Amino acid sequence: MAPESPVRVRFAPSPTGRLHIGGARTALFNWAFARRHRGVFVLRIEDTDAERNSEESLRSILDSLRWLGLDWDEGPEAGGERGPYFQSQRRELHLQTLERGLDEGWLYRHFTGPREPGAGGEARGPRELARFPDRDLDPAESRRRAEAGAPFVIRFKVPLGEEILVEDGIRGAVRYRSDEVEDWVAGRSDASPTYNFVCVLDDAAMGITHVLRGEEHLVNTPKQVLLYRALGLEPPAFAHLPLILGQDGRKLSKRTGDTAVEDYRERGFPPEALLNFLALLGFSIDDHTTVFGREELVRHFDLARVNKAGAVFDEDKLRWLSGEYIRSTPVPELAERILPWLRREGWFPEGELPDPERDRLERAAAAVRERIQTYGEAPERLRWAFETPDPDARALQALGQEGAAGLLEAAAAALEREAAFPPADFDAWARDLAAGLEVAAGRILKPLRAALTGTLGGPPLAEILGLLGREEALERIRRAAARAGGAAAAS
Ligand code: GLU
Repeated sequence: MAPESPVRVRFAPSPTGRLHIGGARTALFNWAFARRHRGVFVLRIEDTDAERNSEESLRSILDSLRWLGLDWDEGPEAGGERGPYFQSQRRELHLQTLERGLDEGWLYRHFTGPREPGAGGEARGPRELARFPDRDLDPAESRRRAEAGAPFVIRFKVPLGEEILVEDGIRGAVRYRSDEVEDWVAGRSDASPTYNFVCVLDDAAMGITHVLRGEEHLVNTPKQVLLYRALGLEPPAFAHLPLILGQDGRKLSKRTGDTAVEDYRERGFPPEALLNFLALLGFSIDDHTTVFGREELVRHFDLARVNKAGAVFDEDKLRWLSGEYIRSTPVPELAERILPWLRREGWFPEGELPDPERDRLERAAAAVRERIQTYGEAPERLRWAFETPDPDARALQALGQEGAAGLLEAAAAALEREAAFPPADFDAWARDLAAGLEVAAGRILKPLRAALTGTLGGPPLAEILGLLGREEALERIRRAAARAGGAAAAS
């Protein structure tokens, strides 16, 4: 699709729930397309379903978009010259256009009440497509019946025998025959216009040049193209993004796991990782680049590189990407990012952190950076440092080793003698200590680790000491030594 300029695209969510992965992917591709072509990204809120709309959903959608870094040029809170940006505020135009369609004869009233026997009111036509006898009703008669109070819906009078060609930016030429398109409802019995009707009016009023949306809307496109024709308007270019499938090969849904962007935010996925992951749901820069950021996406974004085939949502891949992002985050920034999760545990106070606390936070971030795939995993990895650990079975075994108590005492005394804490060259320190005590270094380091963390895993010992600080570390070592000594004496 050769973008005419200036490009104007829109993301048009209904505020009836949180922003889901599929919606976020649609928003992202529109955003990237707009940025790539130096166009305008419009956010339009399709809030015509008064019963299901909520302010809370709207908030959540705007928040999720912002969190992902998808800034819109026109829309709620941004303003713009082609508003209103809430669909409900164009109601006048929608209703007037329904009238216009009836007057011009491309819409008709389909009376839905009981009929005279034999008058026939059911659909007829090829493949039982809805073509109703009322489509040929004299307009004056139709108006008279409506004024007399007969119930009706308003249908689009699909012209017969036409070809509808949609040059889809992803799928290429998609052909439809109008004979296969039903006389779709444009206005409901309560006079409210339907999605297919208002979508076209709004897109036209807002000067939208390209409609990028999910494949599930392919069925709507011929209906909308016919409406553009009836209105005497040139349709925008269309591109239908591939379906997002769960691991089971079926359309992604709640059944497959978390689907709302907020859930991923809550679990502590970096927004950059989720953005990267969403981009990969149907798009690729080339055949080998997996990790890329916003700028790279914008530089390379091209509908020619969007797949037709469904994109599988692979959470393991998201977790992997997330880990990659975390590992490449500088420690001070990572510290800021994991802080909310550590605060929830009560390990850090609210507000500006005093220097020693900040230092501790950064040590905590450094200790987990290589080991977590989400910020939400940080507390479990760090619990040993902030709460007194209960030694696990392997740690108990290490502490129960012969001579462990004495070695721990010696290690504590040696640490205390060091001016720097932890010793500047920890490995050299450990070697010297072991040589002085005439034991293998492991004989000291294992119980030391067990005493400090309650496990035998975790970050390097120097980091462990640094995170605990001199006082806490020495206390843990001495406490463990006393316990080991007591146990040895008792046996
Ligand atoms: N509100 C519609 C939806 O969320 C918009 C569809 C469209 O982009 O045309 O599915």
